[in-house]
Amino acid sequence: MKIFTRRDFGITLGKGIAASTLLGGTSLACGQNTKALDKKLGIALVGLGSYSTYQLAPSLQDTEHCYLAGIVTGTREKEKIWQEKYGIPEENTYNYENFDNIANNETIDIVYVVLPNSMHADFSIRAAKAGKHVICEKPMAINVAECEAIIDACDKAGVKLSVGYRMQSDPYTKEVKKYVTEKTFGDVHFVSSDAGYISNGNPDQWRLNKELSGGGALMNMGVYSIQTSIYGCGSNPSSVSAQEFSTRPDYFKDTDETITAQFEFPNGAVGHMMTSHNANGNRLKSHCSKGWFELDPAHSYGPISGRTSNGNVISFPHQTQQALQMDDFAKHILMGTPNVAPGEMGKRDMIIVEAIYKSIAQGGKKQLLNLGNMGIVS
Ligand code: NAD
Repeated sequence: MKIFTRRDFGITLGKGIAASTLLGGTSLACGQNTKALDKKLGIALVGLGSYSTYQLAPSLQDTEHCYLAGIVTGTREKEKIWQEKYGIPEENTYNYENFDNIANNETIDIVYVVLPNSMHADFSIRAAKAGKHVICEKPMAINVAECEAIIDACDKAGVKLSVGYRMQSDPYTKEVKKYVTEKTFGDVHFVSSDAGYISNGNPDQWRLNKELSGGGALMNMGVYSIQTSIYGCGSNPSSVSAQEFSTRPDYFKDTDETITAQFEFPNGAVGHMMTSHNANGNRLKSHCSKGWFELDPAHSYGPISGRTSNGNVISFPHQTQQALQMDDFAKHILMGTPNVAPGEMGKRDMIIVEAIYKSIAQGGKKQLLNLGNMGIVS
């Protein structure tokens, strides 16, 4: 009889086989869903920069279904600091070179890649090959081919894959998705979305280096505008036309500064998005046949804020988005609940990113998109 390890368990679920059939009689048997939820999945963060330090690691202190089990860092000094702060054992501490040995570590179930964008594909694929479930930060990669390679590696390894789209777990996002599907304000006719900030930092930062970032504002913040446009309208766009604006070429030498784009949607709705590293923007507004709804701020760590044309304020108690996001993924692995930010969603957004860059290169020419329902999660 095969003895099922923690890793087999995750992979087996990843292949969609009922865990209760395979694991009956073991301590991980989840004939009842509650049993599976008793288990907390171990997450290893890869890259201990600002997002891991100030958002993900603190959020992992609040998660119910996963916990911070390991770290992967290229900076030796960070190892001791993190080990002491979060009680991480030496054997769960890796660097970029010995990272692949994580395959032998059964206390790590999920690898969360939080590196500069151009490193996402390499580490996500290595994590999948090590038999670990993968969370890959946004943007999923720097081009569509890399997104496909990540999805393929996870499929082949039978592991689950999610993109670090924290907004997909946010209650405000879920509420506006509900307005769209239930047509609370009628049909959406126009959606407008902005996501940007004014970058004044170190000109040598990786976000301004195309080789490491894959692009500027569009890669970094534009994926939020794309996401918001889609859930603010309820479907993928059927075309996009885009323009780029540069006012500080001395600072933005290598990457895009401000981009605007217009979408057409299959149901006749149209949309406009703006993303920038030189203008603040953090908003979604959907104008519908019988009113409107708005989130402003729409993409920040929260609290998010929203209003509707019937005078209501959209309001939920503040919850940490990153904790909700990582718990959603853990529940997806443990319980088979929906993956709210699957790899297909990250790939779809990268198809749109590439179409936007192509439109700009062709002087704003409309690019047709044939996305169907790719990446749409209700
Ligand atoms: P950061 O610059 O603060 O950290 C990057 C980490 O990567 C550092 O630990 C650095 O040492 C390491 N690194 C390894 N090789 C590197 C190299 N060649 N150049 C630069 N750094 C290198 O960046 P961050 O803000 O933590 O962003 C990391 C990832 O997380 C990015 O993909 C970003 O888009 C994403 N992110 C997502 C959110 C979100 O809300 N989902 C927020 C912030 C960042």
